[in-house]
Amino acid sequence: MKLDLHLHSTASDGQYRPAEVAWMAAEKGLEIFALTDHDTVAGLAEAGEAAEKLGIRFLPGIEISTQDVDEIHILGFGIDDRCEALLESCRAFAESRLKRAALICDWLNGQGIPVTMEEMQGYAGRAMPSRPHFAAYLMDHGYAASRSEAFERYLDTAEYHRAVNRVRPSCKKAIDLIHEAGGLAVLAHPAQYKMDDETLDGFIRRLKADGLDGVECFYSRNTPEQTALFLALAEKHGLRVSCGSDFHGELVKPDVRMGMEVEDRFRKALIWHR
Ligand code: AMP
Ligand code: ZN
Ligand code: FE
Ligand code: FE
Repeated sequence: MKLDLHLHSTASDGQYRPAEVAWMAAEKGLEIFALTDHDTVAGLAEAGEAAEKLGIRFLPGIEISTQDVDEIHILGFGIDDRCEALLESCRAFAESRLKRAALICDWLNGQGIPVTMEEMQGYAGRAMPSRPHFAAYLMDHGYAASRSEAFERYLDTAEYHRAVNRVRPSCKKAIDLIHEAGGLAVLAHPAQYKMDDETLDGFIRRLKADGLDGVECFYSRNTPEQTALFLALAEKHGLRVSCGSDFHGELVKPDVRMGMEVEDRFRKALIWHR
């Protein structure tokens, strides 16, 4: 089966509008897709309406940035985007992202790069200026030749992380919030945290005790060995399986295409299967 439960739109740092994401998902013949923008539910209504018109199954989602041993991303699926607690938290996340964007501007100004918040709001549109927007600015103005270089030279350096920070919720708080909104909580892209197998095992055990429902075992950038390990850990801890590309559009993540092919034997373990 073909599906994709990890997609970004212009509601956060993706290239395409929520309706365009739905349109592309339908064109690719996906059985189901989820929109999972960073720290916001702002794109869900538009994507949901488009999906209904297209007759494609849609799972309303979110990807919450949390602070734990590392910056950990928790995906929420099947959330109610009118849940007041969730909306309240999303407003707080937006405010903290806006403050951080001002800090990034200040820090880049100190590096001799004359970027302004007004310019960055132009890059972000209706979304909060996020690091991929800053990466686009740095490329457009000749400070980096590629997105990865923008992160390596500026946006993901030790100096950057010392100068720029923002308050993020704990994993437990994100899981609770997703549950309060009627959704299921999934650990996103485990490979990204660079934990050894034993550390990841212990980490997943702890998140399961905090209420975690699933693990994103299938991910576009996984090696087959990583996918096998995550599937084994999900099974060991009695967790559901998720599957997503983390598509942002080819301008933002040139190597990531929409749509994942998953063997039918995993269907019953998938997070949306009820
Ligand atoms: P933000 O949520 O604004 O902190 O931006 C985080 C996003 O930036 C992540 O979802 C990644 O897509 C991207 N990102 C973070 N670190 C890197 C990196 N070292 N290289 C390329 N992209 C990165
Ligand atoms: Zn992103
Ligand atoms: Fe993520
Ligand atoms: Fe993502």
